Amino acid sequence: MQKNIAVIRGDGIGPEIVEQALKVLDKTAELFCHNFEYTDVDMGGCAIDKWGDPLPEEMLAKCLDSDSVLLGAVGGPKWNDVPGNMRPEKGLLRLRAGMGVYSNNRPAKIWPQLSSASPLKESIVNKGIDFIIVRELIGGIYFGTHKTELAEGQKVAVDELKYSEAEIERIGRIGFETAMKRGKKLCSVEKSNVLDSSRLWKAVMHRLADEYPEVELSDMLVDNCAMQIVKDPSQFDVVVTENMFGDILSDEASMITGSIGMIPSSSLGATKCGLYEPIHGSAPDIAGKDIANPIGTILSAAMMLRFSFDMEKEADAIEEAVSRVLDAGYRTGDIFPSEDNSGLTLVGCSEMGRLIIENIQKG
Ligand code: NAD
Repeated sequence: MQKNIAVIRGDGIGPEIVEQALKVLDKTAELFCHNFEYTDVDMGGCAIDKWGDPLPEEMLAKCLDSDSVLLGAVGGPKWNDVPGNMRPEKGLLRLRAGMGVYSNNRPAKIWPQLSSASPLKESIVNKGIDFIIVRELIGGIYFGTHKTELAEGQKVAVDELKYSEAEIERIGRIGFETAMKRGKKLCSVEKSNVLDSSRLWKAVMHRLADEYPEVELSDMLVDNCAMQIVKDPSQFDVVVTENMFGDILSDEASMITGSIGMIPSSSLGATKCGLYEPIHGSAPDIAGKDIANPIGTILSAAMMLRFSFDMEKEADAIEEAVSRVLDAGYRTGDIFPSEDNSGLTLVGCSEMGRLIIENIQKG
């Protein structure tokens, strides 16, 4: 199969981790007789430096022309003081909106080899952590009007939080469909004791529930959900929530699984063209040192094969290679325990990539 992948290396550790993911894709293509072509796209701080814009129109057009987009990460302290609408992260928000990817799916799953890396007690981890957060991605407070005005002699800042029934319904359906493919349990998270947008959210979810009688729907307030994720994460199968709540809860969920460097994500809309990226940022503190964990990006590439290209065996081959390398005791710094580390080998970003490539097998 021939596929054109738009590649956004971005800033900080972005170029290092994407490099490893591309090598993994190349090895997979070679083994399974595919042809992946890559189109480089500038986005984020590097695009601001080069083009004066975090996502120039022609760069967005390259993404829209592709079969899917692979992204490292954008941003960094160098661009902290640029005006709000020119920040590197604005490029990412424009990309998500331009691609119409309204659903972000993040697995929170603990790899058995890394269970000791979880900050939670063994008794909690042993009950199992394996759930998905389905987050609305292109609506809500991040996309409402933002303004700071002078009122009665002081600055007043306003951020608008708006959701329509249609926006809630389309993400709600993804939540129910995802639950149907898993344990058939869906937890809808909102703040309906305070927010109108959440009351509408809850009403739409309950209307949809009639269409999915096999799915057990529950409601949870976002503050309680933040507590339950650390108290008993085994209770969750699929969580569906709005943009800002999902942003915060999915970072919390990633932390309990051990390292932010391990977790991939997919963002999809009405078409098969998706955006695939690790959940972490550009990690400027470790950029350029060849110590970043490339696994989150490599697993994002595997998700691309599975969800956008229907290449199940190829995705399995990558995930199994990651598992074999972890079984053999290789760890990047973020997943290398400071104690009880006998039998483990500390490796850098490129060596981790090389080991995974070496372990990709067909069948
Ligand atoms: P971060 O995720 O970049 O880093 C948080 C911590 O995790 C750091 O200590 C970092 O070293 C570590 N870390 C992250 N990824 C790692 C990896 N693959 N391997 C090993 N360690 C890893 O979050 P931050 O420090 O809050 O943000 C840094 C920059 O990234 C900011 O400019 C922020 O806006 C941006 N950001 C971008 C995205 C994105 O591109 N999608 C997401 C979040 C943050």
